Amino acid sequence: MKRLSILLLIALMYSCKQVIVNQGECVMPDEIESMEIVKNKNSESDQDSEQDEQEPRLCTMIPQEKDANLDTNVTLINFSDKQKEKMHKAITRIKIAINSVEFKKRVLAHTYKGETTFVQNDGLTNEEIYYIIMDAAEELSPQVDNELDLEIQMYYSRKRVVGYTYPNVTKIWVNSKYFNTNSLAAVAANVVHEWTHKLGFGHDYKSTSRRPYSVPYGVGTIIKEIIEQM
Ligand SMILES: [Zn+2]
Repeated sequence: MKRLSILLLIALMYSCKQVIVNQGECVMPDEIESMEIVKNKNSESDQDSEQDEQEPRLCTMIPQEKDANLDTNVTLINFSDKQKEKMHKAITRIKIAINSVEFKKRVLAHTYKGETTFVQNDGLTNEEIYYIIMDAAEELSPQVDNELDLEIQMYYSRKRVVGYTYPNVTKIWVNSKYFNTNSLAAVAANVVHEWTHKLGFGHDYKSTSRRPYSVPYGVGTIIKEIIEQM
């Protein structure tokens, strides 16, 4: 009986596996002061560290869509200070990416098998999906507030799940196993992925060939790629 209910629980939640790619990350001007110098893990001694230190690469500011002004309303639970800092950096980048000209262009141009559409789109056009995202009226908090309401809880599991949520709760869970080492772009993609579930979008539970073209995966990938270009 217990086993059955655990299986049921797993089937009910959206578990979200994503590919991890770490890339050379940029720095926002206001992040320079709080920056930690990350040393090359391969270097065996610190003797050459002065030569190895590189100027941080400033993020490229990308054009913003003039009518786009999505903000965030963030609550972090069970985060260490270091994890908080990382999540806030990811969220800063989400705001820039989601309000960009590029984001609108790519959501509107999203294709699956040659058709301009998302998989499991609830009958919505790409343009309708874009404006649902920009309204940010979560199903459980349905006023159009142009704010991503994010209540994110850190947990640890050795399972291959980056993050998950349930349809009937506002909370999103993020697995520290992946969070701690993921790039900011990958963290951001996962947060946006989970958040689109809050807007009511779903995807196949299993790793089907069409799943990457669902709204959560498709939009998550767009966010990730825009941040990687910054
Ligand atoms: Zn998902």
